[in-house]
Amino acid sequence: MKVDHIGIATHQLDEALALWQDALGLKVDSTEEVTEQGVRVAMLAIGETHIELLEPLSPGSPVGKFLEKRGPGIHHIAVKVSDIRATLAQLKEKGTRLIDENPRVGAGGCLVAFVHPSSMNGVLLELVQRI
Ligand code: ZN
Repeated sequence: MKVDHIGIATHQLDEALALWQDALGLKVDSTEEVTEQGVRVAMLAIGETHIELLEPLSPGSPVGKFLEKRGPGIHHIAVKVSDIRATLAQLKEKGTRLIDENPRVGAGGCLVAFVHPSSMNGVLLELVQRI
């Protein structure tokens, strides 16, 4: 299992890119709008993993609400799994609280599912299966 990416909530991608891209020197792999999740996303490669910068498309979106409550910062950690449905079934069997019982399509067209922070030491966990 590997860390696929670390999601960071930001008010504005441009401001965040000035830090992570311009100041730190990371390269942007891709940017896209994931309307289903209400975010604009920039993926920056760092070693074998990525930093995922998230800008909400509206204040009422999940990342918009996160920003209002906590301000910018680490929003979630994503781990790469080979069979997301099997991992979800395994977590459910162990009594873990899932946000997504079934995977949905996330950034880059991969399958994603979120696990509730109340079951993961306060950390929002994202499972990612690359296709
Ligand atoms: Zn993510």
